[in-house]
Amino acid sequence: MRVAVFSTKPYDRHFLEAANAAAGHELLFLDARLSKESAALAEGFGAICAFVNDDLSAPVLKELARRGVGLVALRSAGFNNVDLPAARDLGLAVARVPAYSPHAVAEHTVALMLALNRKVHRAYNRVREGNFALEGLLGFALHGKTVGIVGTGKIGEVLAGILSGFGCRLLGHDVAPNPACEALGVAYVSREELLAQSDIVSLHCPLTPETHHMISADTLPQLKRGMMLINTSRGAVIDTRAVIRGLKDGIVGSLGLDVYEEEADLFFEDLSDKVIRDDVFARLLTFPNVLITGHQAFFTQEALENIAGTTIANISTFATSGQALHEVSVEKIAGRS
Ligand code: NAD
Repeated sequence: MRVAVFSTKPYDRHFLEAANAAAGHELLFLDARLSKESAALAEGFGAICAFVNDDLSAPVLKELARRGVGLVALRSAGFNNVDLPAARDLGLAVARVPAYSPHAVAEHTVALMLALNRKVHRAYNRVREGNFALEGLLGFALHGKTVGIVGTGKIGEVLAGILSGFGCRLLGHDVAPNPACEALGVAYVSREELLAQSDIVSLHCPLTPETHHMISADTLPQLKRGMMLINTSRGAVIDTRAVIRGLKDGIVGSLGLDVYEEEADLFFEDLSDKVIRDDVFARLLTFPNVLITGHQAFFTQEALENIAGTTIANISTFATSGQALHEVSVEKIAGRS
């Protein structure tokens, strides 16, 4: 099958080529992010392969369908950037990689928690400058602290396992409680209760209309004063402007982000010689108690191998049967909830 691969980075190419060696699809690697304008590059391709910040809104899907594309193969688990009703109406199949390494994301989440708590990001710079003073680096023991996990699916479950090893008290909130998490000692509570009791809140739910701006000006007063907020799910699960106010007021004691609402214009590119035009993001960078990584929680050898393998399997099954292995559709999502 001929596949146009959008938003290609050298690592995508490396892992996709290896996974495709036996399947033999014709892959065209494009640097361009998918948009209404760049959709024309998919002319004559049966499938396109896209990542988290590619635009898969209705106008773009319409362009793709008009140019003969039949399959949108996502290299991600999340599919919040796809207009699924529009895809269905246009007869476009959408496939994703439902699980590639929940360990990668859960482990990165813990890295953010530990680095923020023990101020590793500040200590790193201090020691390099010959400053060995400890003032400002005081942390707390994770042991005995209450961690609230919002969204206890695959990643939330792995995180619960790691944190139970630290001796944390675990609270969970999910629309569908996970028995494996209960077995790990997670106590399910309402979202309000979780926010009120947790020393650390970690977000692992998908971005949906229900979870959009879950942490907002309305929910900030429910948080325990000085708490740590970690978001490795999707940027828009938190209202960044409101959280900045929470940081200034001391309600949010520290913030760890791997995702950002407006990340599409920033992340995955080297902008080190450019001016950052996003003032909200620039403000976040000024706080000593904010640690941001650029959507790298998934970025492990194991995860990239699995993403490439499943993506090629999705394309191969679609090519032979007209049905991708891991299709996502409005009907499937409705059936799950
Ligand atoms: P999953 O589907 O296994 O788990 C998500 C959980 O969230 C489910 O248990 C679901 O019931 C729950 N949920 C749905 N709506 C909810 C709501 N309104 N309130 C509370 N819980 C709700 O998904 P996963 O593999 O654990 O991934 C979770 C999210 O992590 C993905 O949707 C994606 O956005 C994000 N992610 C980020 C990265 C990264 O690199 N930063 C990588 C992979 C996934």
